[in-house]
Amino acid sequence: MQIIIDVLCSPAKYAVSNLDELMSPLSRCPRCRKGKPHKHGFYRRFCIDGFRIFHIPVRRYYCSACGVTVSLLPSFCVPRFQYHVDVLWQCLSWRFNEETSLTAVGQRLQERYPIIVWMPQQVRFYSQRFLENVSRIAVVLRKEYPHIDLADSVKKRAKKVLTAIEQGFPNPQSFAQLYFDECQCAFLAQPRF
Ligand SMILES: [Zn+2]
Repeated sequence: MQIIIDVLCSPAKYAVSNLDELMSPLSRCPRCRKGKPHKHGFYRRFCIDGFRIFHIPVRRYYCSACGVTVSLLPSFCVPRFQYHVDVLWQCLSWRFNEETSLTAVGQRLQERYPIIVWMPQQVRFYSQRFLENVSRIAVVLRKEYPHIDLADSVKKRAKKVLTAIEQGFPNPQSFAQLYFDECQCAFLAQPRF
């Protein structure tokens, strides 16, 4: 299983840091809540922040009580996606908050992030994924803000959801982490019906 750890640093800093100094040890197994997991090496994954491609280590633990392997993913990563959460967020913000066309979102992303070259289809993919998850995201937000008004058509709701997250959370990473903790999947994951 994966858990997301708020590392409060960029991929560049993470890539050159000693992870034992950056992250507290996992003292209790997040699955069985009884075992004390021990360190179990690393795997590597890509993270693209728009300027560089990082091949970062991800710390793993193993719980001998229940047999689960736990990966500690830094919070700038979105599980199953290679792009930094800020890049994905910027795409969604331009698409829904500013109602920018698919082509123009791609162009703006390339202006801001030199190594991001997205065709309109790619912008559409992330936008569509967000729309598919927006009801579930609204459920998570309502737990934090019970009186929030998110009722609307799906595109207007997407805009309200993005605005609520931008205003209510210190950064998109902290929302993405909360969503993962609540739903055990990323906010852009393929919905499970
Ligand atoms: Zn366990």
